[in-house]
Amino acid sequence: MSKEETSEILVSFWGVRGSIPTSPEPSEYDDKLYNILKNCSSENLQNDKSIKQYITGLPAEMKQFVGFNTSCVYVSIEGKHIIFDAGSGIRRLGNMLMKREFGSGDGEAHIFLSHTHWDHIMGFPFFAPSYHSGNNITIYGVHNGLEQRISNQQEDEYYPISLSAMGAVIDFFQLRKEEAYDLDGIWITNKMLNHPGGSFGYRIDYQNKSIVYATDSEYKHIGPDRYATFVDFFKNADILIFDAQFTIEESLEKENWGHSTSLQGVDFAAEANVKHLLFFHHDPSYSDQKIQTILQEASDYRKTKYPDKQIRLSIAREGLELKL
Ligand SMILES: [Zn+2]
Ligand SMILES: [Zn+2]
Repeated sequence: MSKEETSEILVSFWGVRGSIPTSPEPSEYDDKLYNILKNCSSENLQNDKSIKQYITGLPAEMKQFVGFNTSCVYVSIEGKHIIFDAGSGIRRLGNMLMKREFGSGDGEAHIFLSHTHWDHIMGFPFFAPSYHSGNNITIYGVHNGLEQRISNQQEDEYYPISLSAMGAVIDFFQLRKEEAYDLDGIWITNKMLNHPGGSFGYRIDYQNKSIVYATDSEYKHIGPDRYATFVDFFKNADILIFDAQFTIEESLEKENWGHSTSLQGVDFAAEANVKHLLFFHHDPSYSDQKIQTILQEASDYRKTKYPDKQIRLSIAREGLELKL
């Protein structure tokens, strides 16, 4: 097989919440347990082995939560480690990377920040590879003063260890607005989204595969010309990770908060011919059950409005891994 046929892209989710990390309400544990026990038969409980097999075989949505960490998505291409956002989810990603070449100081990570709202950078001080000398971490972004913004949160008023004392080589690279960047043959384009303070989406194009990470954006009142530029940015994406923080009802109440709905994601995905649309940046107050209604609303809407379009719809959940 040629190199092209064997290359694989892995996309995994480490933080899927918006705004602030959260934790489940006690009643949510009860709901999970209820469903697991209801689904169980006496055969599943015969011995240790059958219990373990039963647990292993349960679908992720039944035994796990959607997740409580803020934005962090990892993309691995040809041994390159690309990370979108450094929300609280980057802490566990860092621990995983430390078991690989980062643990011996031989790692190189590329972190692309959508913007510097707290939920997208708060995990960086807890990213273990940054403390190991020999590792190289490059932080990319479009905003001015990126280094200052990141180092500010590690001033001693807020955190005990400064950015310069972390150990690894940490470089900053300011991307030009809406210009493609060549990361050794992996093309990464940014696009300004519609969000207070500005947020940028990223699109990876590599060997006819494309992944779009577009979080923290509201698409109301943007006018048809600008709308078309978003359709263009999402065009033919294999994976579109889309800010669907609000239900429709809540999006009406929270106009200009800078977030959108799963239905808007479906419209874009249909128009842009997206294969797999993932709803992301879940509201911290939403239970798994409520997040499930976001998927249901989107699925019903797709069937009614675009009956001929095959779009795979999913909830972005911590631990989800996709291969392209
Ligand atoms: Zn956010
Ligand atoms: Zn934001």
